Amino acid sequence: MSKIAFFCIPASGHTNPTIEVVRELVNRGHEVRYYSYLTYKERIESTGAKFIACDEYDCEQKLKLEDGARVGKDMAFSIRILTDTTLALDEMVCRDMEAFHPDCIVADSMAVWGKAAALKLNIPFVSSTTTFAFNQYSAKIMKQSFSQMWNMIISMPSITKDIKRLQEKGYPINNVLDIMQNDNNTDTIVYTSKEFQPYAETFSDRYSFVGPSIRKAGKAALPNGKKNIYISMGTVNNLLLKFYRSCIEAFGGSDYHVIMSVGQLTDITELGEIPSNFEVYHSVDQIAILQRTDVFISHCGMNSVNESLYYGVPLIMFPQTAEQGGVARRVAELGAGIPLKKGNASTLREAVKAVLAESEYQEKAKEISESFKASGGPVKAADAILRVASRGRRKKQQNS
Ligand code: UDP
Repeated sequence: MSKIAFFCIPASGHTNPTIEVVRELVNRGHEVRYYSYLTYKERIESTGAKFIACDEYDCEQKLKLEDGARVGKDMAFSIRILTDTTLALDEMVCRDMEAFHPDCIVADSMAVWGKAAALKLNIPFVSSTTTFAFNQYSAKIMKQSFSQMWNMIISMPSITKDIKRLQEKGYPINNVLDIMQNDNNTDTIVYTSKEFQPYAETFSDRYSFVGPSIRKAGKAALPNGKKNIYISMGTVNNLLLKFYRSCIEAFGGSDYHVIMSVGQLTDITELGEIPSNFEVYHSVDQIAILQRTDVFISHCGMNSVNESLYYGVPLIMFPQTAEQGGVARRVAELGAGIPLKKGNASTLREAVKAVLAESEYQEKAKEISESFKASGGPVKAADAILRVASRGRRKKQQNS
């Protein structure tokens, strides 16, 4: 039996793909501790893993939902948050890791405190990457996000100060790239297929492209005999009243049935009268809805796109961040969706009409779906983690 510690940031998009992987590990009899935040407690405990809350230690900056949105857009802010969080969690994490003595640490690529602890305590490490894997080649498609981020990282004077703060606490980190970047020697799980990953051939075999990890879902009660449109701008950058109103203007009273998920912070009463062919919610069971959806109007968060394509649903894409822009570009490149130039009613109507009229979008989405289903999923991810864990166990035995 292996002992594995997971770390994740407080974001559904980063947590959801890990859930079935953790369930697989627990089902195989391994002991998993998952360091996360109270919002995700139930989801994590449902896998049989031991949940450990980081909320109370995260006292330095108290991440709020609005901060989550800033993290994706403002890199200087992101680095400061990541450093502060690593330091705020330092004592608890190091104490716990020394007591639990895991065979390996699996950390989300943004949960740098997990990777930092692995480096500091010399514990084998696996990166869990919910976006595309990144290197100088794939950077081309993510151009406005990662290359900007890299330039900013390299040029930012405050970074040196943050690195020093980490070094003072014993972290063997020379520059931010040490913790932010995965190279070809880092075991990395990527939740998409090689076919969908841009420049997949440039990554070493330490990268496991396992396909999306689709969580269990209920059944959506949607009307038969109508085209269903699903609209969601994700769980983070979703305060987009103007856009939701445009959707209502575009499809209100039409023959389409529309399900719109507007996020926890949107006041639904501010959307005005909701037409009878619309269902508007703060949050929905997206996996259940996608199984009955003809077209998904999405912000192109990596998970939403993966989930949509998994069910062969073509996309209309309205990205809000540079990273989402990169995902949208890849979908467009593979012909499984249409980018939305403007978020107004007439553009929305035309895009939906075009996607539904042309079966090629759906066919391309189905091709990607097949590549996802052939990628190995949580079983392959668990195998990759356990390979690293058994290296960790051997190392422990040699040292004892
Ligand atoms: N999601 C959901 N219900 C909703 C909206 C979103 O279950 O009403 C889930 C969705 O299935 C996906 C995640 O939240 O797994 C959103 O992740 P994504 O990477 O697409 O976007 P983010 O929220 O990180 O911007």
